Amino acid sequence: MCGIVAYIGKEQAFPIILKGLKRLEYRGYDSAGIAVLNNESGLNNYKRQGKVSELEDFSAEQDTSGTIGIGHTRWATHGLPNNVNAHPHISTDGEMALIHNGIIENYDSLKEELVSRGYVFKSETDTEVLIHLIDDIKTNEKVKTAEAVRIALNSVIGAYAIVVLSKDNPNQLIAARKSSPLVVGIGKNGDFFLASDATPIIEYTNEVVYMEDEEIAIVDRNEGLRIFSIQNQEKTPYIQHLELQLEAIEKGGYEHFMLKEIHEQPRSIMDCFRGRLNVEDGWVGLGGIKDYETKLAKAKRIIMVACGTSWHAALVGEYLFEDLTRIPVEVEYASEFRYRNPIINENDIVIAISQSGETADTMAALNLAKSKGATILGICNVVGSSISRITDAGSYTHAGPEIGVASTKAFTAQVTVLTLMALTIARKKGSINETDFRRIITEMELIPDKVAKILEKSKKIEEIAAIYKDATNALYLGRGNSFPVALEGALKLKEISYIHAEGYPAAEMKHGPIALIDEEMPVFVIATKGTSYEKVVSNIQEVKARKGKVIAIITEGDAQVKEMADHYIEIPDTHEYLTPLLTTIPFQLISYYVAVMRGANVDQPRNLAKSVTVE
Ligand code: GLU
Repeated sequence: MCGIVAYIGKEQAFPIILKGLKRLEYRGYDSAGIAVLNNESGLNNYKRQGKVSELEDFSAEQDTSGTIGIGHTRWATHGLPNNVNAHPHISTDGEMALIHNGIIENYDSLKEELVSRGYVFKSETDTEVLIHLIDDIKTNEKVKTAEAVRIALNSVIGAYAIVVLSKDNPNQLIAARKSSPLVVGIGKNGDFFLASDATPIIEYTNEVVYMEDEEIAIVDRNEGLRIFSIQNQEKTPYIQHLELQLEAIEKGGYEHFMLKEIHEQPRSIMDCFRGRLNVEDGWVGLGGIKDYETKLAKAKRIIMVACGTSWHAALVGEYLFEDLTRIPVEVEYASEFRYRNPIINENDIVIAISQSGETADTMAALNLAKSKGATILGICNVVGSSISRITDAGSYTHAGPEIGVASTKAFTAQVTVLTLMALTIARKKGSINETDFRRIITEMELIPDKVAKILEKSKKIEEIAAIYKDATNALYLGRGNSFPVALEGALKLKEISYIHAEGYPAAEMKHGPIALIDEEMPVFVIATKGTSYEKVVSNIQEVKARKGKVIAIITEGDAQVKEMADHYIEIPDTHEYLTPLLTTIPFQLISYYVAVMRGANVDQPRNLAKSVTVE
C-alpha cells in the first residue's frame, strides 16, 4: 500500500514523479504529494487529498522546477486522508522532506519523547515521528542526514520504505526499507529513480536494484548508488535487468485496467502454462519447484497461506491437491495463521500465494513457518518480489502486471499454477493414472480458447448486469471446487460495486442465507455439469421456491437448468478440475459491468489498495 516515487538527475523531477505516482496509484489513492528541491526557491512541497489528478491540478500553476524530488500516493493507516496527513512530511525548520510506506508501530513512544523535546506535530500520522526523529538526531549528534536516518531507523519498530530529501545536500536522496518494498532504478544518464515497484521506472531504465530489509540506499549525483545496512556495513548492489514491457502497464485502449485484465486471460493463462505443459509428450513440470518435487510428493501435509482473492485460489488448490495427490491440505488466512501459534514443524510444506509477493501478513506467515523449520514455497506474480526472494522455491504465475485493484487474471493464473503443481506431485507420487493425467492436460491446453469464447458473451453478461445493478444484496452459490469461485464472485461484486454479497456452499444456504431470499435477491449459481450437478439443481429449486432470481452458470447445451433459471450464461464443457478457470470469468464481467453502471471507480474502489503491505 502507498506508492513511493523519487527522482534525482538532470531532468525535471516533478513530471517524472507525477507520472510515476499515476502508475502506482493502484497502491493507494487517499492523497498524493510531491516535494521538489530547487536551488533558487528552496524546498517546495505540494500535497492534496484525493487522487494524483487533484495534485496535478493543484500544482499546475506553481513553481515545480527542480531536478530532485520525492512523491507519495497514500493509503492511510494513521490519520484521516486529508491535506495535512498527506506525505511528504517536512521537518519543522523546512529543511528536510520525507515519504513513508508502512506503519511505525512504536510511534507513540517516539512521539512522546520528541514532544518532550519541543517538537510540535502537525499531522495525525505515525510517519511524522520519522522526520522529527531524524532532525533531532541530526541536530544533537551533528551528523549528516544519511547518518541521522541510519541511527533513527535503529530505534524504529515496524514496517517502512522511506525516502528523505534534505536541502543541505541537493545532490542526494536517502532511502531505506524494512518489510515494505523499494526498488532503485539506475538511469542511463547518471540519474536515479526510487519506487515501490518497477512500474514507474521501466520507461527510463531496465536496470534495477531490489532493496533488502534494513538496507539504506544513498543515491548521489557524484558518487552514484551506495548501499549500507542499518548497522553501517557497506554492501555491493545487486543489479538486475527487468524484462517488463511498458505496454503491459498501460490500458491499451480499454476503459479500465480491470476490463483489460479480464480480456487478457486467454493469453495470461497460456503464458502461465507455456513451457510447463506438453500434451504430446504427456508431461508437466514447474522449473521453480523441480528440486522440491520429491519432498512435496512425500509430504504428510501441505499448508497454504494467503489473503483475499489468493485465499480463494488456495481453496481451489485444496480440492485439486487432495483429490490428485491425496496429501492433506490446510488453507489458512495468513493474518490468522501468524498470530495463532500454529502447529508446524520441519516436515510441513507451507505454500504462500500472493499476486504482489509483498502482502505483509503472508510474508509474516512465511517467516513464522520458516522459523519453525518448515519448507516454504511461493506462488507470486511479481518477479523479484519479497516473497519470491524469501522462499526456498516457488513458481511465478507469469500473468503480467495486474493494475486493477480487483484481482482477475492473477486469480486464474494462480489456479493454473496450482493445477500444474498438483499434477506434478501426483505424477511423482503415482497417485494419478495416465489416462486421467492426459485428459486433464489435454483439456488444460484448451482453456485459453474456452475463456475467449466466454468473453465473446460479454454483451449478454452486460445485459444481465443491467437488470441487477440496483440490487442491495446478492448470493453466490457453488459446490465442490465451485464453492471458492462463489466466494470469489461475491468478493468481486462487493469490492468494486459496493453491493453486499455472500458466497456460500450451495447446500449451506439452507442454514441461514435462505432467509434473505425474496423476489429482489439475485442468486448466482454455478450449476455446471459434474459431480454435484443434481444436488445444485435441487438447490436452485429451493431458491426458486422462495421467488429468488437465479442467474445460473451452466455447461453449454444443458437444457434442464436453462429452463429453471431466470438467466443463464453458458460456458464450454471442460474437465471438472478446470471449471473454476471458466466459471470465474462471467462473475468478473458481471461485477465489472455492475460497477460501471453504478458509476463506481472500478480500478480504484474506495478504501482498498492493491498491494497490502500493512497488517
Ligand atoms: N502509515 C502512514 C500513513 O498513514 C503511511 C501509510 C502508507 O503506507 O501509505 O500516513
